Amino acid sequence: MNKKQSSEPLLLYYFTKFVKKIIPIYTAKHLLIEGFIISLLFSTIFYLITNSILLSFVLFINIIFISLTKILLIPNDKQNETHEVLGIKKLEILILTFISLFIPLFIFYILLNNTQITLLSIILVFIYLIFLYKRSKKYLNPTISMPYYTELNNEWLTAYIYLEHSIKHYNKQNYTRAYFWSKYSEYIYVDIIKNENKKVLQQAASEFSIVSNLLSTSCKADNFDKLIFIKIIKKQLKKATELLYSRECNYCEQIYKINKINLSNNKNNKFICDNCIKNNLKNKKQKYNISIKKAKNILEINKITKDNIYKSYREKVKYSHPDVGGSKKEFIQLKNARDRLLKEI
Ligand SMILES: [Zn+2]
Repeated sequence: MNKKQSSEPLLLYYFTKFVKKIIPIYTAKHLLIEGFIISLLFSTIFYLITNSILLSFVLFINIIFISLTKILLIPNDKQNETHEVLGIKKLEILILTFISLFIPLFIFYILLNNTQITLLSIILVFIYLIFLYKRSKKYLNPTISMPYYTELNNEWLTAYIYLEHSIKHYNKQNYTRAYFWSKYSEYIYVDIIKNENKKVLQQAASEFSIVSNLLSTSCKADNFDKLIFIKIIKKQLKKATELLYSRECNYCEQIYKINKINLSNNKNNKFICDNCIKNNLKNKKQKYNISIKKAKNILEINKITKDNIYKSYREKVKYSHPDVGGSKKEFIQLKNARDRLLKEI
């Protein structure tokens, strides 16, 4: 494509790497640290103007109170979800505005009766609020819809939002930002490949990481090459999205589109295809007609953990597999015991 590959924008490359390293996924903890730093910065500015440590301290408390309030508004189980931490809903804006105006109006205006200081503090507080609100927008309205099953964790959604963000900037020819967000999303997709258990989703993450990579490479290409890149990126995005909308049947291991497959067990996010429902219902009943106690005896394990089950299975299958002279019945029993216990995890 390019006769000579233009070099990577080094500074931006390391900057993105650095940001990803300190903030892999934005959580409530990060919001608090960010609030602390901004409070410190703004109260210093306030101090330089007013020359009063006490007043600056009041402002410091005021600003950090905004991030604290936002964190308190996030449900406990969602404190690690980037879109919940950074997205601010309408009602939350009202609450945050009220909280941030209360101290300046009450202390600076009513108690101290100082209009200038009140105005200055309100301006500083509002700069922070507007920053929070502007940033929140991209986390509230992802334009590419995403199958948000429980199995797709926070990393998936965050990577998706970042990729989307990158595409938006790319379309606006804002290539520096597009580069930053595409690299950021690429790093998260690489993490997902490592952490994801489902094979199809691993592949999807891998294809998405290629989309991100192509995007960042394209940012530094010349205009003619960009047109070629866009074609490839669109194709790649389609391929990745198709995988994201596919799931493997946990029984026959065939891959289906998400609307053609059913969740068999909400707790474990296991999928079963229509064929397996029809054909294997009888077999399955027999197959799992084995008690947990018996299954544990067959595998000779006490604690039901994934590791224990597979370790023992690997050990025992060496002797009971028909290919190495074991009996077929014994082999099936062993497999059933394994599957029965895996269902308990
Ligand atoms: Zn199936």
